[in-house]
Amino acid sequence: MSTNFGSIYNIRGWGEPYFAVNSKGNIAVNINGVETTSKQEIDLADVVAAAREEVASIGKPVQFPLIVRFPEVLKHRLESLNTAFAEAIKYTGYTSKYQGVFPVKVNQNRVVVEDIVTYGKSYGFGLEAGSKPELLLAMKCLIDGSPDAFLVCNGYKDKDYIKLALLARAIGLNTIIVLEMEEELDLVIEASEEVGVSPVIGIRAKLLTTNPGHFGSTSGKHGKFGLLEDRIYAVADRLKEKGMLECLKLLHFHIGSQIPTTEIIGNAVREAVGYYCNLVKNGAPMGILDIGGGLGIDYDGTRSGDSDMSVAYGLEQYASTVVQASRLVCDNNNVQHPILCSESGRALVSHHSILVLEALSAVEEPSDSLDSAQLMEKIEELVGNPVTLHRNLRSAVRTKDNSSLAHADQLKKHGVEIFKLSKRLSKQLSAADETTYAYHMNLSVFSLTPDFWGIKQLFPIMPIHRLNERPTKKATLIDLTCDSDGKIDQFIGGGQTLLLHDINDKNYYAGTFLAGAYQEALGNRHNLFGGPTIARVESDESDGFKITMLDSGATASENLRAFMHDPEKMYEAIGEHAKKEGHWNEDDQKLVKNVFETMPYLIPNKLETKSYVNGVKYKN
Ligand code: PLP
Repeated sequence: MSTNFGSIYNIRGWGEPYFAVNSKGNIAVNINGVETTSKQEIDLADVVAAAREEVASIGKPVQFPLIVRFPEVLKHRLESLNTAFAEAIKYTGYTSKYQGVFPVKVNQNRVVVEDIVTYGKSYGFGLEAGSKPELLLAMKCLIDGSPDAFLVCNGYKDKDYIKLALLARAIGLNTIIVLEMEEELDLVIEASEEVGVSPVIGIRAKLLTTNPGHFGSTSGKHGKFGLLEDRIYAVADRLKEKGMLECLKLLHFHIGSQIPTTEIIGNAVREAVGYYCNLVKNGAPMGILDIGGGLGIDYDGTRSGDSDMSVAYGLEQYASTVVQASRLVCDNNNVQHPILCSESGRALVSHHSILVLEALSAVEEPSDSLDSAQLMEKIEELVGNPVTLHRNLRSAVRTKDNSSLAHADQLKKHGVEIFKLSKRLSKQLSAADETTYAYHMNLSVFSLTPDFWGIKQLFPIMPIHRLNERPTKKATLIDLTCDSDGKIDQFIGGGQTLLLHDINDKNYYAGTFLAGAYQEALGNRHNLFGGPTIARVESDESDGFKITMLDSGATASENLRAFMHDPEKMYEAIGEHAKKEGHWNEDDQKLVKNVFETMPYLIPNKLETKSYVNGVKYKN
């Protein structure tokens, strides 16, 4: 058996059951988790080589960075979530069912949302929207979904939003308008009278249960969203007065993403179900408890739940905590068990997409300008004679006239300087043989991993090949933007460097894993880099894979247009001026056109195509 160095990156911790290292030392993607057969296993390095080939449909070489999507992994996640709830419901004797929704803000990509609706049809799986455009896309996609699927309308609402939601209900989509603020109630009442459609209403509760850590900053009593307990009952009273209590069917809460432990989840569900039961006792029909998002991902693979990077549970424990907490409180109140709905985003889509980065070059980071001997000399100079130093210090403490105070101040400055120099010296001595390298990657941190830039969210990053060779270079990853923030120098496990291989003038790739949630939706066009190429990869019965969609990312023209530039006019103006200066031959024109028409990332000089071993040859 060949050695593999996957354990350096704790791939078993965060990657199982979907990612492993195969006998060739490449990342293997197990599209069906533990049920993946050896024929279904996909070699990520083969996928990259295949995508790299000139592809007839886009007629040009694939540019990096590349997002590789595995829809079958998405399907497996969705099935696993539904199965986890089904099992928990069975074993707990819960008398209702689970029917989740996908919050489209987590990944609005059409193909992702359509896949979720298709795979979720038999589970009655629906969508959650938080704005008018999201509602439009959810309406379009759910037309082909299960007729029972919920369309949950969250977020702040104006009258048009509410009317659009009512239209969605009128055309047969199971739409629920969730009140985030008490003021929205009047708008709902008015809008429903105007359009003559009766609404189904939900209320977002502001729970006292809090979620610690970054993602829970808006949870608790002082949180930004939802209604406190007394206001929830006040809304129910208003609906009763208006003869509309029949419309109140759902109670929702969301205490933030990435909830670290099942204890917090259980507390939140118990609190919410308490309110739910009171609403039922006050005559509201209810029927649905929507527990929001929060089902987390164990990014660092420690299962510790002690930071935003980790959660201490899996899908099964999550589902069983929710089901048991709901059953307990309902039974204590003699209230029927509600349908359980979760708005799980991160947990559904994180695994299915991998961002593949290409190394452009690796350079040694400049080391300290002073070597160890020079640093030692400087320290000795500052310390001087230790006996004199001690005497001076004592006299500065005893006498309190101005000159000794000035002397004491001077000594303090010396002390600080000595401290800093000693730290540099100890760092140098301990890392004498460990040079750090800056690996320049075809990447924009701002466009592709915005959560790393914005909130220091860490994703597992590791080479996707050569994992049977020991990686020896300590690296930081530098992106193509001109900002000092444009680098990755923190990695899971707490390191400031990542072990990579020598590039050796060959194509070298690293994958950023678990990045399918939020990153594409939040990514921006900083430096006009925009999005990546996207490949959709599915298994093929003939022991390989097929690329079922390849989308080249936004071109420079498209990125420019988003900022109100007109690429055609720009081309003309540059051409006219260049002609006057005598520099507008065919090659110049071709160059400028090509820059406008391709993605703004770098095209490396060595774009040689590799033949891929086991991968099905991409069919042109
Ligand atoms: N529901 C609401 C209201 C949200 O604000 C969010 C995101 O924070 C989600 C669902 C999705 O959360 P998660 O990705 O943790 O499942």
